[in-house]
Amino acid sequence: MSYVSYAKSNGIAVARIDNPPINALSIGVRRGLMDAIERAQAEDDVKALVIACTGRTFVAGADISEFGKPYEEPSLYKILDALGTSSKPSIAAIHGMALGGGLELALSCTWRIAQLNAQIGQPEVKLGLMPGGYGTQWWLRLAGPQVALNVTTSGNPASAERAHEWGVIDYLVTDHSVDLISAATDFAQDLISKGALARDLSAIKGPVKDVDLSVFEAYRQKNQKKWRGLVAPQKIVEVLEASCALTFEEGCALEKKAFQECEHSPESASLRHLFFAEREAGKVLGTHNATTLDIKSVAVIGAGTMGQGIAQACASAGMSVVLVDRTYEALERAIVAIQGNYDTSVARGSMARAKADRAFNLLSISSDLVAVSKCDLIIEAVFEDLRVKQSVFKDLDAVAKPEAILATNTSTLDIDLVANFTRRPQKVVGMHFFSPAHVMKLVEVIKGSKTSDEVSATILKVTKALGKIAVFAGNEEGFIGNRILGAYGREADYLLEEGATPWQIDRALNQFGFPMGLFAMRDMAGLDVIWRIRQEREQKGMRPAYERYSVLADRICEQGRFGQKTGSGYYKYEGRTATPCPEIEALIVQVSADAGIERREISDESIVQRIMCAMVNEGARIIDSRTALRAGDIDIVYTNGYGFPSYRGGPMFWALQTGLQKVYEQIQEYHRLYGDTWRPAQSLAEAAKANQWPVYQA
Ligand code: NAD
Repeated sequence: MSYVSYAKSNGIAVARIDNPPINALSIGVRRGLMDAIERAQAEDDVKALVIACTGRTFVAGADISEFGKPYEEPSLYKILDALGTSSKPSIAAIHGMALGGGLELALSCTWRIAQLNAQIGQPEVKLGLMPGGYGTQWWLRLAGPQVALNVTTSGNPASAERAHEWGVIDYLVTDHSVDLISAATDFAQDLISKGALARDLSAIKGPVKDVDLSVFEAYRQKNQKKWRGLVAPQKIVEVLEASCALTFEEGCALEKKAFQECEHSPESASLRHLFFAEREAGKVLGTHNATTLDIKSVAVIGAGTMGQGIAQACASAGMSVVLVDRTYEALERAIVAIQGNYDTSVARGSMARAKADRAFNLLSISSDLVAVSKCDLIIEAVFEDLRVKQSVFKDLDAVAKPEAILATNTSTLDIDLVANFTRRPQKVVGMHFFSPAHVMKLVEVIKGSKTSDEVSATILKVTKALGKIAVFAGNEEGFIGNRILGAYGREADYLLEEGATPWQIDRALNQFGFPMGLFAMRDMAGLDVIWRIRQEREQKGMRPAYERYSVLADRICEQGRFGQKTGSGYYKYEGRTATPCPEIEALIVQVSADAGIERREISDESIVQRIMCAMVNEGARIIDSRTALRAGDIDIVYTNGYGFPSYRGGPMFWALQTGLQKVYEQIQEYHRLYGDTWRPAQSLAEAAKANQWPVYQA
């Protein structure tokens, strides 16, 4: 099969790439391109070569499954060099997206023309990589250091219009009815008639003149916090800065070396793992071929913290939303908060005013449940109380149209116990959003025992439309994320009793890459909520006999210290600023003594080790029970919902990189030391043997 066609008319050759869906630069495309370049070079009647694409886009990237493997020739470098040294000028004709290696292909052409609505960008940094096909050099030399820094370290695409202003695109095709290839050949003919087809690039290929080198340091400083733990963006700045004093060729050599370092970095391996895991997540048996319902209107019940965020997320995605609560006060508070969020986005420049207004106008409020009667999807976010939810679902069932889907945002309750209060349990599903719901990308989707495939598939589609990632979780307590949080939270509590302090554990987790420590997070969420849940679990006898109970959290709550909202919890607060608290330290020492535990010095390293192992073992148990189907799903949950640093790929990928056998042995050791809480999961034992996590494919 040919991935690149070659045609010629009036002295202009056209190479057309055809490799759907994104015309990725896989080996077949590279071979075809190389042939086309060589043929254009060899044919005397060819004066110029146009490179264009069929389908919905220009080349939107390299074939990322090839990263980290030996290059198969012709490599992208060979193609770019052939374009650079060819005596026949080349013109890239861009529509859709020109991204990564695809953009670099265009940059190595002599000229670039683009449709007005095209976009170009260097997204490599999002995979822990950097432009590796001379992208840094072209951006630096065509658009200058500041634009080069922004484009290559953010990974965000820019419009062709902006790129034209920067001098990266030479000509814009503003009339959409004009065929792009005809426009490119006309462009070439025009240059030929002016005798201007060839281009003298010698000036821009020398060292970069008149640069204020302080921009690099200033940019580093500005992004210091954002880039903590990341290698790729720092490498990009390093290459751009050093390249100012170098020629194009020297800069290219520097870029190539830096790219290879990134390509083999753990950061890139982690981010690529997450990229593929995200694609897999949401693939669940039965959803693949199931028909989906069209969701245009949504009702959100409960206008509290979660309801507000969910309503805003739906409106931002263009759905009409009615927000329902028992009281007008709650509704008014919610509307003011949502309006405030939109205003902030507009002020920050992350959303256009017109878009914010359009979204806001899609929202309406009501204190009468009848308002949901025409909605396609109803998402309940009332108090976390089974009886309240059951009564809401019973009422919803009576007023919602028969085909409407009823979703609950419960974080702890059994979906079936809610579904069974309706006459349509097949249409009931869990949608566990994370706070703040208009920002956080994760949604755990929980299938009840009767949830239909059609409903699951529809929720998957809705979640995507919201710009979020769905991960299916079994209907078990804590689903995926909170179950793991419970396990490593328990271990952190034990560590306090054994000798650590909250601030030491938080510091260790922070250094590992979590933006916030566990105890600071608990203080922020409010300690009373978990206290209530804990008491309930104790009353119901849900704690296994072998599990030690740490009373510290209860003691803290008994003092009325509920975290940030009461000015003290594990920490003392002034506003939101936390400081270590001597009374808490004294309380911890007392609790240890009461429990007969001798306190000892615990290193930060062993804190991280124990917490990570707790996460991994619980993750593996979750796989054992098929609450999650794949280790990758757990990683997606943790990196998108719980602040796990994505450059470490998630807890299960951390185990893989640390060595599954090593982690398994460590957990066996904890099992010997601390008892059955640490019994190694079956799938961990299997994974250690196979050196990979088992996958229960959909
Ligand atoms: P919240 O207390 O902030 O809001 C609950 C709202 O529901 C209140 O405005 C209340 O007036 C309203 N409400 C109560 N009963 C109602 C009824 N019968 N009809 C209409 N409205 C009613 O609670 P929240 O933090 O937004 O949590 C809501 C749900 O989301 C809970 O199930 C919770 O477990 C879950 N959840 C919360 C978080 C979080 O971080 N807060 C995260 C994920 C899931």
